[in-house]
Amino acid sequence: MGEPAVALTRSCPGSFARAWAKAVSGTSYLPMTQAQLEALLQRLTEQLAVALQAEPFDLRIGQQVGAELVAAHIASAEGLGRTIEVIQLRLVRDLGLVADDVEDRMARLLATVATGYARALRDRTLDEQESIRRAAMVARAQAERALRDSEARFRYQATHDPLTDLPNRTLFTERLSAALNEPGRGGDRVGVCFLDLDRFKVVNDALGHQVGDSLLVWVAQRLRRVLGDHLVARLGGDEFVILVERADCTEDVVRVAETALAAVSEPALVDGHELTVSASIGIVERPAAGTSPGELMRAANSTLHWAKAAGGARWSLFDADRNRRELARYALSAAIPGALERGEFFLDYQPLTSLRDGTLLGVEALVRWRHPELGVLRPDSFIGLAEETGLIVQLGGWVLAEACREAESWAAGRDDAPFVSVNLAVRQVRRPGLVQEVRALLGRTGLPPERLQLEITESTMMSTVEEPVRALRVLADLGVRIAIDDFGTGYCNLAYLRDLPVTELKVAGEFVAGLRAPATDPASRTDERILGSLVSLAHALDLTVTAEGVETADQAERLRTIGCDAGQGWHFGRPAPADQILARLARARRAGGQGKIALD
Ligand code: C2E
Ligand code: MG
Ligand code: MG
Repeated sequence: MGEPAVALTRSCPGSFARAWAKAVSGTSYLPMTQAQLEALLQRLTEQLAVALQAEPFDLRIGQQVGAELVAAHIASAEGLGRTIEVIQLRLVRDLGLVADDVEDRMARLLATVATGYARALRDRTLDEQESIRRAAMVARAQAERALRDSEARFRYQATHDPLTDLPNRTLFTERLSAALNEPGRGGDRVGVCFLDLDRFKVVNDALGHQVGDSLLVWVAQRLRRVLGDHLVARLGGDEFVILVERADCTEDVVRVAETALAAVSEPALVDGHELTVSASIGIVERPAAGTSPGELMRAANSTLHWAKAAGGARWSLFDADRNRRELARYALSAAIPGALERGEFFLDYQPLTSLRDGTLLGVEALVRWRHPELGVLRPDSFIGLAEETGLIVQLGGWVLAEACREAESWAAGRDDAPFVSVNLAVRQVRRPGLVQEVRALLGRTGLPPERLQLEITESTMMSTVEEPVRALRVLADLGVRIAIDDFGTGYCNLAYLRDLPVTELKVAGEFVAGLRAPATDPASRTDERILGSLVSLAHALDLTVTAEGVETADQAERLRTIGCDAGQGWHFGRPAPADQILARLARARRAGGQGKIALD
């Protein structure tokens, strides 16, 4: 910078700066105190003074002042206007400047201040826009990341079991579907091991759910550790499943199942308890093509039940034939209620004949099912099913009612009519309403209680607790006869029967079968002696004895000699519809008047 072109006569930058500060304050929000503002403008005033005097004229100073004003947030159009005004009116005067070209210099100075101001303002706006753009980008990236993170977290939660952290049913099903749809990723076959802990409920009940949960976590960890890269998932409860994606043959999957069983059966130290558990596994292994996940899992589940039914602590392998048989059984049991409604069941009756004089003492009601597709079905093919499913209560109720209804009509005003013997399943005996049901039936049909006999198996008697025995006693007190069916096939002993309300023993056909051999055969003689002592013991207990499965006249004669009271079997008559029984009864009444029936 050269010699000053403008001379300073009386310098008073302070009063100018104050006037300037007064002019601009209030034109925009200033983040500083009045004193700070004055100090700033004081400094800028000194620069303006320098600019006015500099030789040659230096544009940069005015521009610098303009820029500093903007930087100090004096950045509105009004702020600039007032600044220009105050400089124009007061600067030269307040600073006491004297020069020929002061007006010219002032004009240039104002122009440079305005230019600097405008540029700074533009730059600041650009900067602001840029930083807003950048902030928006950063915010968007953060939001996207947060979304991705939460999606991943959500997906993890939706596909994993919170207790064991194993994949859950959803993820397992996804992987299984993928394995079935993309065979060839490994082998062409897929294997599934459906694992369920044996008696896990006992752990929960005895030690509490917390220990149960810890045991599940332990099992999950063990399975994951020993099964390496096979997918192990928890389906819920104590059910786990292992997916064997690269199976070459059944043995591959069986090996996986054996490894899993061995791992689970190692003693576990859980919450201070040493627990030993076992598991059962249903294995399905088949070509991936043509199988759906649902079908495969249903097969695995059925197979698991085979392993459980065989005693647990083992694996079972799916067997299509067995599965078909079970499905057929299931279909049959599911059809029972409809069949009852449509009246597809009917009763045959089989004579129970006195061995002493050949009288028809009673008849056993035996249920049959006239199945629309399968023909007439014997009870052995559906009674077991009905017992398992509980449908026996409905079916047995129908049999009881039907038998009472028909039997009542046989009396025809005489008192030598045969009694009707009805088989009762264990569930029927255990039902609390049995006494009321029988009482109501007798009342409704008018059948005297003495003409009803209930057949109960030994095992029913043995497994029956206090309450049902009381019900049988009430019925016996009413006059209803109670018989033990198939005696000798269970574990009932005669001494036990002494305390039960039983009136008759029906000795199982197996014991009577021995009497079919010639009486000279030593084994046959032994059977006869056993039967003989059984009969005397029964008589000592005031029980009558009916022999089942009597097929020949010789058997009947030997049983009579032993002292057996009655016989049932083909020798006396096969199970037949009620009208045939009635016809026999009528024939016997005509012939002897004592209900004696002629044999076929
Ligand atoms: P059960 O009560 O021991 O009935 C006797 C079974 O032996 C009958 O078979 C009968 O046909 C058969 N039988 C009769 N005489 C002879 C013979 O001389 N030789 C041979 N080998 N067998 C003979 P069914 O009718 O097939 O009944 C089988 C079983 O089904 C019955 O055995 C009984 O336990 C059960 N049952 C039948 N009806 C009912 C019912 O309404 N309710 C319940 N809960 N079970 C029933
Ligand atoms: Mg029976
Ligand atoms: Mg029997």
